[in-house]
Amino acid sequence: MLLGAHVSIAGGLQNACGHAVKTNSNAIQIFTKNQVRWDFEELKEENIRIFKDCISKLKITPISHISYLINLGSADENIEQKSFSLFIEEIKRCHMLGINQLIFHPGSNKNLTEDKTIGKISSNLKKIIDLTCAYNDVSLVIETTAGQGSSIGYKLEHIGDMINIINSDRIKVCVDTCHIFAAGYDIRDKEGYISFTEIFDKLIGLNKLASFHLNDSMKELSSRVDRHAHIGEGFIGLETFKYIINDNRFKNIPKVVETPGGDEEHKRDIEIIRKLKM
Ligand SMILES: [Zn+2]
Ligand SMILES: [Zn+2]
Repeated sequence: MLLGAHVSIAGGLQNACGHAVKTNSNAIQIFTKNQVRWDFEELKEENIRIFKDCISKLKITPISHISYLINLGSADENIEQKSFSLFIEEIKRCHMLGINQLIFHPGSNKNLTEDKTIGKISSNLKKIIDLTCAYNDVSLVIETTAGQGSSIGYKLEHIGDMINIINSDRIKVCVDTCHIFAAGYDIRDKEGYISFTEIFDKLIGLNKLASFHLNDSMKELSSRVDRHAHIGEGFIGLETFKYIINDNRFKNIPKVVETPGGDEEHKRDIEIIRKLKM
């Protein structure tokens, strides 16, 4: 079972492994830079080496989440341009660190229809893929969203459309349980869970599913609000996590919690999920 937490890189990404040990993670998600800033420091050879060494020694599967500021659909041309450049930089950083999943939210545009926004984002992603063929070990992983504001990605149709337009093996998908629930997919009972995986397979293809974010939800079904809760303490409840963790189709897919708090809380959430394994 590849299970773990989103861990901090405060003080440098060479610290990620320490958090992996503390949280009992064999899969971790990290930001490769400060996630709320456009600027970044170049990765240092020494830190890359330490990171890669401990990752391989501890047999940890690392994935990365892109900076929060990035929006390839932005109505502001300046932000769109900055997003485009930073996206490429983030792919390069993943490549240097031996990380092969870069997870991102599709984006939003308050002035365009959803279809036009999907077209704009997809055309940017197509260009980014072409410009980063030297780093084709890194997949661009679209995360399902809760659909806050004018965000795209709260319907599996959106993601299916993007995949069809972009048409690249490097595009994959990450399912966030909190987000799909807030977006209106009721995965609380077995029937709902199975039906979700069937719709996903039909519109996207289960072969595109690359990772899970396992979060409970502080907000109700269809709230379209993104607030993560500890596992079993939100509106989703434990059953859903039991289905996912025991679904053999997803055995080798990394799953990380992005619940509130630090190492201690994450360790507890991970333990709760591990105990659901039958
Ligand atoms: Zn997430
Ligand atoms: Zn979220």
